[in-house]
Amino acid sequence: MRQLILASRNAGKILEFKRMLEESASDIEVLSLLDFPEFPDVEETGTTLQENSRLKAVQITELTGKPCLADDSGIFIDALGGDPGIYSARWSGVHGDDLANNAKVLRQIHELEVSGPVTRSAQFRCVVALSFPSTHPRSGEVHFESGEMRGEIIDTPRGDHGFGYDPIFVPDGYTQTSAQLRAQEKDRISHRGQAMRKILPVLIAAL
Ligand code: IMP
Repeated sequence: MRQLILASRNAGKILEFKRMLEESASDIEVLSLLDFPEFPDVEETGTTLQENSRLKAVQITELTGKPCLADDSGIFIDALGGDPGIYSARWSGVHGDDLANNAKVLRQIHELEVSGPVTRSAQFRCVVALSFPSTHPRSGEVHFESGEMRGEIIDTPRGDHGFGYDPIFVPDGYTQTSAQLRAQEKDRISHRGQAMRKILPVLIAAL
């Protein structure tokens, strides 16, 4: 069976990737870094989503000898000058502490609101990178795709689907947060869903 490694330990991301791959490429066996607990974490030393997604995809391809799909994503809040952006996962100082990360961005917005009204607009952005092992004709190449979902930050978290900043993010055109949307609806409109739909044909043809 064809194999693909997701270069992530983020359970929320892995769930989303697996369900989208399952729908369109059920003949591909999908593993993630949760299946390789012995691997060290890839250091995200890049300054853009693209650089960090490349680092993750290339390093995990080198370690596994398999094609790898990496995602680097984040929320870019206009009133915070685009923060937390590439630092979204570790914004509170503790990597992957969603509650603390959400609390910190709300605290920052509230601090600004002391001086007057603040725009709540924000975008989720995602870059996915696909890398190929040394035995593959496309070895050395990295294929990138991206997606974006615009919306607004709200004060009171709602919903228990999704992960990360989903409970405080209402996508444009919706009244529910992205943590209240059905899985298929989030995939249809999300930054990750868009990037995934672009890279799927490439991935299916290349594996
Ligand atoms: P990364 O693992 O460095 O790419 O960090 C991604 C971080 O961005 C996650 O840990 C979340 O905090 C945030 N994020 C990315 N995509 C989403 C999403 O779809 N919903 C909610 N938060 C997200």
